[in-house]
Amino acid sequence: MTQTVNGVAVDASMTEAEHWLALRDRVPPVWARYTDLVVERGEGAWIETVQGERYLDYTCGIGVTNTGHAHPRVAAAIAEQAAKIIHAQQNILYHQPGLELHERLPRTFPALAHGDEAALFLSNSGAEAVEAAVKLAKYATRRPAVIAFRGGFHGRTHGAMSLTSSGVKYRGHYEPLLPSIHFAPYPYALRNPTGATDEAALAFSLAGLEELFATMIYPEDVAALLVEPVLGEGGYVVPPDGFLPALREIADRHGILLIADEVQSGVGRTGRMWASEWTDTRPDILIMAKGIASGMPLSGIMARRELLEKFGPGAHGGTYGGNAVACAAALATLDVIAAEGLLDNARRQGDRLLSNLRRITADHPTVAEVRGIGLMLAIEFADPDGLKPRPDLAKDFIQAAFERKLLLLSCGTYGQVVRIIPPLITNDTEVDSAISAMSEALTAIGA
Ligand code: PLP
Repeated sequence: MTQTVNGVAVDASMTEAEHWLALRDRVPPVWARYTDLVVERGEGAWIETVQGERYLDYTCGIGVTNTGHAHPRVAAAIAEQAAKIIHAQQNILYHQPGLELHERLPRTFPALAHGDEAALFLSNSGAEAVEAAVKLAKYATRRPAVIAFRGGFHGRTHGAMSLTSSGVKYRGHYEPLLPSIHFAPYPYALRNPTGATDEAALAFSLAGLEELFATMIYPEDVAALLVEPVLGEGGYVVPPDGFLPALREIADRHGILLIADEVQSGVGRTGRMWASEWTDTRPDILIMAKGIASGMPLSGIMARRELLEKFGPGAHGGTYGGNAVACAAALATLDVIAAEGLLDNARRQGDRLLSNLRRITADHPTVAEVRGIGLMLAIEFADPDGLKPRPDLAKDFIQAAFERKLLLLSCGTYGQVVRIIPPLITNDTEVDSAISAMSEALTAIGA
């Protein structure tokens, strides 16, 4: 006989898989869902469900599992550290993986000038690191305002959400938000109102920034420009090459700090350790999270040492930041990226995916654009006349790929973009099977 306990069916005849499936509706609906899968394990680019089905995971847990699921070297480092000490709070103790990470990670800070040193502050989530970056900028400059870019996503805490403009669902019904935040246009060539070229989009964006200085806020009151080097949630938009260097120049001219939010674009995702490196841009503060510890909660900011050290004792902090097990996972992640040549692989597989995606979408008029860099790739769906966004097609495409055992996500303000985020370890065979699944999916949805 079936009983219910707190609304859950308890039935001795249920299989183990059925038991887990029955528990799914306990999870609150605030977690908008892409799939109903209950996962048993993950290995490399693959996940396996409690029912024994295997899926090629080109979501990477939203760009997190860059070294693949449960990489043996990362898993071993986690187990080894967990057996020694799990939590050695940063105000109380130094721990070895944390010290090593503070020594190693800042060496990757982009475009360090000769003689400059970089330093690291660790926290847990992307949003928390965004908070740290913006707090540091305000603290160091004693200026009140921040300029972010339209379409940007920076997280869900009150501060990070106030800086986010990629979709109303992230900020709607939460007013009042943080004051003194202004938005300039992100250069998005496909949807640029003054013409669909990189040059026009760049000019439009920079003119929008200058307009803010002329109409809304004096530059000398701006602490920071906060920008994603590649727009993430807002649609996987790669800006023109001149964009970040132009922001660097404007920031220098006005004594503003440039903050690169590399939460999604960092840790090898674009084929360089940090996307800012593609244009040799030196951010004042770089924000990282997601891929840095292969799935353990770890985030942080890097900055030149003299800037980061402006944060006096107690000016910022947190109980869990720089957790010992997470730091051990981060060190193993850095090792795996180097030992397995994952930056090269990201570029190589990214190029293969991009060229094949362009080939298979060529005869599909509602594919408005295929774009991306490294393994941060996207297909945007829109009506050929007028570019009306087609989130329905993106959704159907993701569903058709799912039916072919390929996991994908959407992004873009209207959900009209499909993003393809393979782990950096993905191989030729997986890329080829993803391409054929996507080719079939395109035909199946009649795009
Ligand atoms: N910044 C960017 C660019 C992101 O893509 C995200 C998450 O997707 C965040 C910040 C927030 O990170 P988290 O969800 O870990 O708080």
